[in-house]
Amino acid sequence: MTKAAVTKAAVTQAAKGRRLVSIVPHTHWDREWYLPYQAFRLKLVDLLDGLLPQLEANPSYAHFLLDGQMAVVDDYLAVRPDAEERLRALAITGRVAMGPWYALPDEFLVSGETLVRNLQRGLRVAARFGGAMDVGYLPDMFGHVAQMPQLLRLFGFEHAVVWRGVPRAVDRSGFLWSSPDGSTVRAEYLPVGYGNGALVPDDAKALLRRIGEFEAEQGDLLVGPILWMNGTDHLMPQPWLGRVVAEANGLDESSYELHICSLAEHVRSAPTEGLPSWTGELRSGARANLLMGVASNRVDVKQAAARAERSLERLAEPLSALFLPPERWPAALLDAAWLEVIRNSAHDSICACSVDDVCDAVLHRFAEATQIADGLTTRALDALGASITGVGPVVVNPSARRRSGLVEVRLPGNEVPPGCQLVSERPAERMLVTDSPVATATVMVLELEHIRSIRSLTIETLDGDELLRVERDEAGSLITPTVRQAIATIREERAGERVQVRITTKPAITVLARVDGLAGYGWQSWTGASAPAPASAAVTATEAGLANGRIEVTIDPTDGTFAIDGHGGLGALVDGGDVGDTYNWCPPDNETLVTQPRSVTTRVLEGGPLRARVAVMRTYDLPTHVAGPERVGRQRVEVTTVLELRAEEDLVRVELDLDNHGLRDHRLRAHFPLPERASSSRAECAFAVVERGLVAEGGPTEMALATYPSRRFVSAGGLTIAHEGLLEYELIDLDDGATTAGTLALTLLRCTGMLSQGPMTTRPLPAGPLTPMEGPQMQGPVNASFAVHVGDRDPFEVVDDAHLPLLVTRASNGPQPNEGQALSISGAQVSAIVREAGAVHIRVFNPTTSPTEVRVEGRHGWLLDLRGRPLHSFEESFELAPGQIATAALA
Ligand SMILES: [Zn+2]
Repeated sequence: MTKAAVTKAAVTQAAKGRRLVSIVPHTHWDREWYLPYQAFRLKLVDLLDGLLPQLEANPSYAHFLLDGQMAVVDDYLAVRPDAEERLRALAITGRVAMGPWYALPDEFLVSGETLVRNLQRGLRVAARFGGAMDVGYLPDMFGHVAQMPQLLRLFGFEHAVVWRGVPRAVDRSGFLWSSPDGSTVRAEYLPVGYGNGALVPDDAKALLRRIGEFEAEQGDLLVGPILWMNGTDHLMPQPWLGRVVAEANGLDESSYELHICSLAEHVRSAPTEGLPSWTGELRSGARANLLMGVASNRVDVKQAAARAERSLERLAEPLSALFLPPERWPAALLDAAWLEVIRNSAHDSICACSVDDVCDAVLHRFAEATQIADGLTTRALDALGASITGVGPVVVNPSARRRSGLVEVRLPGNEVPPGCQLVSERPAERMLVTDSPVATATVMVLELEHIRSIRSLTIETLDGDELLRVERDEAGSLITPTVRQAIATIREERAGERVQVRITTKPAITVLARVDGLAGYGWQSWTGASAPAPASAAVTATEAGLANGRIEVTIDPTDGTFAIDGHGGLGALVDGGDVGDTYNWCPPDNETLVTQPRSVTTRVLEGGPLRARVAVMRTYDLPTHVAGPERVGRQRVEVTTVLELRAEEDLVRVELDLDNHGLRDHRLRAHFPLPERASSSRAECAFAVVERGLVAEGGPTEMALATYPSRRFVSAGGLTIAHEGLLEYELIDLDDGATTAGTLALTLLRCTGMLSQGPMTTRPLPAGPLTPMEGPQMQGPVNASFAVHVGDRDPFEVVDDAHLPLLVTRASNGPQPNEGQALSISGAQVSAIVREAGAVHIRVFNPTTSPTEVRVEGRHGWLLDLRGRPLHSFEESFELAPGQIATAALA
């Protein structure tokens, strides 16, 4: 922390006995929200078209803050490319502040890696304009993650500016905010938000009166110069600002000295002594609403985000970095995918507290990012396969930890190797067409030429008399001119008859195989010769449950819940009303909870020995919507839950499907009784596992509600849920003193009909426009995927097992051995593996409370900060303090 610099202006004003007021003109620019992006962009173009000449012509309008995000600059210059030089001139002379973010993100609903890439991109774009604002500006985020101070410090920032989430315990407008590793920034706290000085009146006395009212209202909370944020959402600048400020300063009776300045200038002059301290995340509703219900709003958007981030961070990047030669690193394509993900990380985009057009765009961007990532993953796997000796399947481990697990392999022939489980087969001979008009069958047969696996075909009468038999010839042709002629003859002679077509193909099977002890970022040719697992380890399924010799899953036929080793009641569905909006959950006045299904049936889908699955079909009678104070209507809905258990695994995979069409204004949660009552939960958030108690802090603008977000997993009381995009959980079933909880509730779905509501029980004021919307009602099929582990395994391991499967490629006589490892990293969680200027860079973090040694076997290099500047060198290993994040360039 630098010592507070006392500005010249401050000294002068102190002498006059006037309190300094820093006026920071700005606009808060949600790229998309209650209007789609293009509609807001039109307004953005108007704003900047007006602002640039104003700044150029009027030096008294000393400064403008472009909302701390470079997207507004890119979006503007895309339609006004000629303005780039003017904007650069204003930025270089300090008249306009830009960045450091690319888009102002939500911090909880995206990955840590997305936050890093967002800031890196913002800084990169800002460099074209002489650099970014030197402040971690976080004006509107719906709370702040625990690791934000460390991220900011790793980017070289010493200051943050925050609003929402600051707890009651912080009672000053500045505080020292620390991450779990001890990294600290000075945070400037905006007690009433980023718009306290919006719409400055064209009257000096009126302006001073407003500042006086603000000072009186905030009292002791305000320390040092008063920060007057002159702007708010999508607000155009007030051209008279410079004149009014000069007039106000000329008034003898004024007790303030106003100056228009940059946010960086203000925070540098703000006091650092005697401030309160806070360590960890900021998720309080004490003075501003946190809008915590965004975590469960539009679950489809959250699932798409989780998929895109997994595809990019865990597959496309590490596999391309490790298995492609450096010159084939797909920088431009990855950059294109990340741009979509970063744009979507904007708080109103990922929170989906936006009109349906915006959510459509967000889903489309995630789909494109995922398509790029999946395509790049396939190419990296193909490249690896081509480099490996022999022919046949090769199993690949995309994670850093040593892994065992199942893979699907496709094999020629019809022999299931010992220990494998048949998934599907293509038989040698089969009937392709039965009882078809000859005209149709003969046209179809001509197309079989292109299906190379077909070796012969026979056209027969319905009695089985052969009319034509064709074998693929030595040149590889099936439908030769002679055959074509024969088919034409049949069509002519047999017009009006019905025939059948039989084909023979090369037989092939798809089997499940278990692979053991595959090294991290390693590969192993699959020979099929592995010893079959002992019969005691085989997984079995009946309509009553599943077992694999390690755990036993039993299904309760009365309510469709399941038990793991006798610990029951898991996965009970609880459906309640929701008259809230995209921001907050709110139960109707007369709540009706539906907890019991009308009927339960089960069916075995797959019976082992490596993978077994049982479908549990539960039917419920659910209310259809809320009218007035209560839920009304009734609709039967079937919820299908597929429980899957694999050989030698200690987790149960759960796939839940329902058709939500017709069901509105409700929240559906799955309940999981905890093996032991718990006083806290542990959830993954960006680069950390955060521990949270059972209650939240609320305030006048929002009721306290202990629904919390988790990324990828949450653990409590000996139970872990690993999920993909089911971000919201709550510990419920509290004892009298609220010291322990008995159940974890996981939100599967939250359906509401308004962007924002008017006054409601859980939040007295609207959080946005009162726009009715259909999208948040989630009308249509809904799918939820998660895994349940009872026990004490590392939740990061459970996440990988559940959602990052082992992969398969095919060897094709390359030079590399049939078993190998591209990179060995141990001792920390790996967040990223990328290439920068040809070198492999890794990012790791220590989510534990003990120091750890990170080993990168056989490699040396440099530790870097997040701007890529070297910190110090290392040989094969380096220390990570509890909670620490590190980036290393490997030589
Ligand atoms: Zn905003």
